[in-house]
Amino acid sequence: MARDTKISWTAIVDRDGRAYRGATWNYIRGCKEVTLGEHGECNHCYAVSLAHRMASNPNAKVAALFAGLTAPDEQGVMRWTGQVNVSEAHLWTPLSWQQPSGIFVNSLSDWAHASIEDSLTDQAFAVMALTEGRHIYQLLTKRPNAMRRYMNRDGLRERIRAAQEVIIETIPAARKLKVNHAWPLTNVWLGVSVGHADAAYRLDQLLAVQGDWVRWVSAEPLLSQLDLRPWLPGGGVANAYQQHLDWIVGGGESQDGSRPCAAAWARDVRDQTVATGVPFFWKQWGDWLPASQGGAGEKPTVELGDELSYRVGKHNAGALLDGVTWAQYPI
Ligand code: SF4
Repeated sequence: MARDTKISWTAIVDRDGRAYRGATWNYIRGCKEVTLGEHGECNHCYAVSLAHRMASNPNAKVAALFAGLTAPDEQGVMRWTGQVNVSEAHLWTPLSWQQPSGIFVNSLSDWAHASIEDSLTDQAFAVMALTEGRHIYQLLTKRPNAMRRYMNRDGLRERIRAAQEVIIETIPAARKLKVNHAWPLTNVWLGVSVGHADAAYRLDQLLAVQGDWVRWVSAEPLLSQLDLRPWLPGGGVANAYQQHLDWIVGGGESQDGSRPCAAAWARDVRDQTVATGVPFFWKQWGDWLPASQGGAGEKPTVELGDELSYRVGKHNAGALLDGVTWAQYPI
């Protein structure tokens, strides 16, 4: 559980200037890589190294949350084992946060992972429902089929209403709350990660979720040209489902072995998004900065597209895209 996370898109400011404090909420920890290799979006999953470190935390209670989650592969690279540790004690944490927060749900896992029981996700959705009007929850998955199956299941709304009743009866921090009958929840933003064009199929599943949910895509790390137009307003898939993407987040890669992001890819995603009036957020360049964005120096360089990119480090690379900060939100 973390307040004041460095994940900048959690610190939401809405159009009326209302600010939400950025936070993460982890009631599960652990994952399994979805895509590895040349175009792999999970190659440098930041949560693996963090989980590996935390498993040796001197505080035994903290270490237990991360036990058994990671192990080296045949090449000695630290990877997830596929085990997911559930922390039911952390399920109720947002109920105690009085300050409005933008909350990235399960930043150290994937909420739609196959080992997660629907009943656990029902409880999490019940917490989100009970705090509508206070917090905003940002969900992200690389398992869009599991997300769609869960979200479109018959009786989901009733199950979540029942879970809210149990929480109100049993959890002290919820005792003064009332069951929220609203559906869909306006404070839950459903997202998929699409870092490479090979993974764009995930957007079909996102649009196939029934109901008027806020839908978003995290194109981070951005590893290729990405054509989002079919899923943006007016696009073919958007028209077929009568739904569209509401928010686009992009960014480059950091961590050891990070790969550069071409300025042309970032500009293209920005331009497609802006052309349809959808809010855009450029989070960071990552470790590499293209020459057109100010990248220069003696450190390793690569030629990408029609320009050089320089490894300048995440801090130096910053988050300006053609000199502009893009930090728009869908509310
Ligand atoms: S799906 Fe997300 S959390 Fe899981 S391995 Fe990939 S990047 Fe990491």
